[in-house]
Amino acid sequence: MQPLIIYNTLTRKKEEFTPMNPPFVGLYVCGPTVYSDVHLGNCRTFISFDMIYRYLLHLGYKVRYVRNITDAGHLEGDRDEGDDKFAKKAKLEQLEPMEIVQKYTLGFHDVLREFNTLPPSIEPTATGHISEQIEMIKEILANGLAYEKNGTVYFDVEKYSKEFNYGQLTNRKLEELLEGTRELGGQDEKHGRLDFALWIKAKPETLMRWNSPWGWGFPGWHIECSAMSRKYLGDTFDIHGGGMDLQATHHTNEIAQSQACYHKAPVKYWLHTNMLTVNGTRMSKSAGNGFLPQELFTGNHKLLERGYAPMVVRFFMMQTHYRSTLDFSNEALQASEKGFERLMESYKTLLSLQASDKSDENIKDLQNKCYEAMNDDFNTSILIAHLFDAVRIINSANDKKLNLTQSDIDLLKKIYNDFVFDVLGLKQDDVGNSKLDTALNKVMDFVLDMRQKAKTGKDFKLSDEIRDKLLAAGIQIKDGKEGSTWKI
Ligand code: AMP
Ligand code: ZN
Repeated sequence: MQPLIIYNTLTRKKEEFTPMNPPFVGLYVCGPTVYSDVHLGNCRTFISFDMIYRYLLHLGYKVRYVRNITDAGHLEGDRDEGDDKFAKKAKLEQLEPMEIVQKYTLGFHDVLREFNTLPPSIEPTATGHISEQIEMIKEILANGLAYEKNGTVYFDVEKYSKEFNYGQLTNRKLEELLEGTRELGGQDEKHGRLDFALWIKAKPETLMRWNSPWGWGFPGWHIECSAMSRKYLGDTFDIHGGGMDLQATHHTNEIAQSQACYHKAPVKYWLHTNMLTVNGTRMSKSAGNGFLPQELFTGNHKLLERGYAPMVVRFFMMQTHYRSTLDFSNEALQASEKGFERLMESYKTLLSLQASDKSDENIKDLQNKCYEAMNDDFNTSILIAHLFDAVRIINSANDKKLNLTQSDIDLLKKIYNDFVFDVLGLKQDDVGNSKLDTALNKVMDFVLDMRQKAKTGKDFKLSDEIRDKLLAAGIQIKDGKEGSTWKI
């Protein structure tokens, strides 16, 4: 079987995955900025990396998965200007900045739990690692690749570019990058247009501030990931991930900071997930098209026709490869809901399937195809197509149209356990709107039992009345040799 192949943004090639220190794998993913609720687009990125983490674990790697929480250093402008997002939100909600951080961190965890994501091994915060960031900035200054102006420290991109390739991650030359940026004004403290802040001087009104060799201030956004990934995963680690929108600035600057500090490339494989879009436009807080997972679960949003269970949404995301865009629509979600229910229904069928002494299918081959799909850059889309082959086989075997031996059935159960539950992270108990379904199932068991008792006691008037009343409520009963079944 082919080894795991990963598309590396840095080299723009698919490469065989060879961890630096097997079986250990270091995985760092840029986490959320916790000044507001995460929207479904953010969730797509975190769910994609959850699948990648799950698959690495499934292959037997010992993964240290670090996903940070950005709780400081995020200004509104992307050029080190504007208000601090946390301070602004704190004022608006009349809370302490740290209350904002706590509120939205807890909300983020709740949402990811709904989507059945595994927690990271370490979840470090920017505010908990101020001294590490200061140390790193001191090293970059000592190497002559940053400068201080009135209490703010800037990274010197032009000077850095004499020695290193600044635009390597997006494969762009310095001149091209310069073309895309504004001229510096007379007020600017920066030497060059691409320079970015490592440390920002506090204004009198700045609430979140720390003392540093350059006076009171707070760290820039990019330095936190360089400092924390280095602390927990070492100078150079295996995989760094995030959404594609982070490539051009945040991740480009992370590479520059690490190289400027200790002269090594920080990351072997850069992985980027593509965006969730709505009518072709990227879902984002600023575009106003970002609905919250809770709105999706309840259907309480103008873009939604109704609510969808978290596992249906997770399945919907897994149906598209993580490097392709995924466009949100009600129709697509409804199709995913049907597909998800078929997948789960057929698992129930599989559990009660009768073995035959001969076999008409090559289940081992199907299992290999599942691995091949995942080993080809985590192609969950193809994996799911193979899982629907399993569904077809199970249903045909159940209809006695083909034969499966006990070992075929056991292998199909293993495929479900490994790929559906373990790697895709889907849960069985979430078919439809799970809690209501569970209650309804219990009530229906009871009602059918009552009806059976009425029939046994020859009270046909009552048994027919129960059947008709249920039909009027939209529930159809089918009487068979092995008892009665029902459907909505
Ligand atoms: P933020 O909280 O804005 O820093 O974003 C957290 C993560 O969500 C980052 O990795 C972003 O790249 C990612 N992200 C933001 N918008 C989208 C989107 N529409 N689709 C997928 N990922 C997104
Ligand atoms: Zn980051």
